[in-house]
Amino acid sequence: MSGTELLDLAERLSGKRPAARRATRADFCRDDGSAIDHGVLLYFAAPRSFTGEDVLELQAHGGPVVLQQLLARCVELGARLAEPGEFTRRAFLNDKLDLAQAEAVADLIDASTAEAARSAMRSLSGEFSRQVHALVDQLVELRMLVEATLDFPEEEIDPLRDTDIEARLDMLQQALGALRARARQGSLLRTGMTVVLAGLPNVGKSSLLNRLAGEERAIVTEVAGTTRDALRESISIEGIPLHIIDTAGLRETADQVERLGIERSWQEIAKADIVLQIVDARAGVTPADRGVAARVPAGVERLVVENKCDLAQQPAARFEAQGQVHVRLSAKTGAGIGLLHDELLRVAGWTGHGEDVILARERHLAALADATARVGVAIGETQRLEVVAEELRLAQEALAAITGEFGADDLLGAIFSRFCIGK
Ligand code: GDP
Repeated sequence: MSGTELLDLAERLSGKRPAARRATRADFCRDDGSAIDHGVLLYFAAPRSFTGEDVLELQAHGGPVVLQQLLARCVELGARLAEPGEFTRRAFLNDKLDLAQAEAVADLIDASTAEAARSAMRSLSGEFSRQVHALVDQLVELRMLVEATLDFPEEEIDPLRDTDIEARLDMLQQALGALRARARQGSLLRTGMTVVLAGLPNVGKSSLLNRLAGEERAIVTEVAGTTRDALRESISIEGIPLHIIDTAGLRETADQVERLGIERSWQEIAKADIVLQIVDARAGVTPADRGVAARVPAGVERLVVENKCDLAQQPAARFEAQGQVHVRLSAKTGAGIGLLHDELLRVAGWTGHGEDVILARERHLAALADATARVGVAIGETQRLEVVAEELRLAQEALAAITGEFGADDLLGAIFSRFCIGK
């Protein structure tokens, strides 16, 4: 619970007024004095708490019935259920976190691989925000220089001022570019890639999936909103979540539920990042294979995987034929799997600097792109300082929106409503 008068609430619930930051054992009681459960009270007095308000945490024995009764009792005593993300929103409004950090809380909870979680934790610790602040500081300094030159044109303080401004703009542009590159990698860690396995029966799709999954599958969880079914599987390569759709399940069926699932899969295939077309290395790409590929929309990247190279008695290899990348491998022996890994990461655009990556969202990428474009315009207009000044002001606003120093209320609504309840 977060808010005010929580000590009174604790007293009515348990007969105790817990000391701040100490674990207090207590019975949690109903109105008639009978105990719902006994557990532990933890009290954090404002402002030294997650939300910056008074916070009271109850630890009870798990189990939905006990917790529901406890929740109902707290509501009876004047609490109300939190909205999605409300704790984090309050932390943001009370300056405990900036917006990028608040988003990192949700990303940490939703992380589907260990690498994504590590990266979210770095953002939560403020690393991304510090980088953004450093850029904003550079921008502010540059704006001061430009505006001073505009305000006192006759002073000619520094005859080198134009080149100086140009050099500084270039430096800023480079720093923005570096941060964007890191953020783009992070966006990949966060959302991953959708990979479609296409191929005729028996070419080895499930074998390849199992081989790719290796030991990693155990630590990959489903992304929120998708259900585990026969058609989908999530694995990770170097921490990049790969959402794999197996077209083997895309058959004609009378079953209503299955049909809905298949319908959804085709919608996803239309948005896929890459199609792995799996063929038997002994036969190569047959007309039937081309038929499967033809159902995949143009514009989706394609890799031909020639499987069963052990049977074909050919070595594993990556090669190009008619502009199309082929990877020859064996799902059974594992030969060539590394080549496929590399190829998937190449298509994803992963450069593999794990420790540098910033777990960015689309919103952050858009803001960074906007700021970069503004600085780009400024670089082309150094003879018109009033344009430079205006573009730099807009670039600063774009960056400040990342950490929430500049932004609209509807943005906050959109961000916090996607949290799960109670976070
Ligand atoms: P799917 O129908 O495309 O999912 O194909 P499966 O993965 O079920 O494989 C069909 C058969 O081919 C199985 O008996 C596999 O053991 C075999 N198989 C798959 N990949 C290889 C491979 O690389 N080498 C050999 N020798 N057999 C393979």
